Amino acid sequence: MVKIKTLEEIEMMRESALVVSKTLGMLASEIKPGANPLKLDKMAEDFIREQGAEPGFLGMYDFPNTLNWSPNAQVVHGIPNNETLKEGDIISVDCGALKNGYYGDHAYTFEVGEVAEETRKLLEVTKESLYVGIRQFKLGNRVGDVAFAIQSHCESHGYGVVRELVGHGLGKDLHEDPQMPNYGKRGRGKKFKNGMVVAIEPMINMGTRNIKQLKDGWTILTADGQPSAHFEHDVALIDGKPELLSTFKYIYEALGIQSDEESEFRSKSLV
Ligand code: MG
Ligand code: MG
Repeated sequence: MVKIKTLEEIEMMRESALVVSKTLGMLASEIKPGANPLKLDKMAEDFIREQGAEPGFLGMYDFPNTLNWSPNAQVVHGIPNNETLKEGDIISVDCGALKNGYYGDHAYTFEVGEVAEETRKLLEVTKESLYVGIRQFKLGNRVGDVAFAIQSHCESHGYGVVRELVGHGLGKDLHEDPQMPNYGKRGRGKKFKNGMVVAIEPMINMGTRNIKQLKDGWTILTADGQPSAHFEHDVALIDGKPELLSTFKYIYEALGIQSDEESEFRSKSLV
């Protein structure tokens, strides 16, 4: 059952999302060749707690860490370890926070130093597909409209769209209805209503869409060993339109990137 949120609840959820946004921004300055994942995981945990929140993933379904840390061919749900980052890696970092009883859940794929051109393209197209999808999260549309938009954008570049893992509703639970797949047919699935909050999160592979899972029971990686990208935003439906609750602004500030990609999805300026 889809849980509709009041505007007050959505403002609380914006706070939770921003805890994660700021945490990813803090990590953006730390992600470089030689960085130790477990050290960054601990930094993220402390940073979340300093903001009066709890790490959203730590202990959830027995997950052992604060960050989902998924380098290169890992798609999602990787576990931070002592394997330091190398020049040319990509690293998908997914992070959750629980504040005032509501979850934030958002993710970014970072470049470590200089990355191969075809890998950069994968990240660019995956992030584009996130916004292409968010644009369809509006009154009158359905889950399939977002799904179709993401799928067609990524497949037009020859990429594989992961089927087994999907976006989701978000609120007092990390995973609420509806499921938000990144593939599907226009006009199908649940109809969107004002007050819905969802996490939209394309998981896109450079090669085959097929995945496998490591014996750790968590890590998902591409079946062909090619890289995979993951970008995730938290979005509310307000007055018929998508409103971003999370932001990549802190990441871009840390990396010196100019971007107005979020402006069309934001009614309020962020402090
Ligand atoms: Mg996530
Ligand atoms: Mg999610």
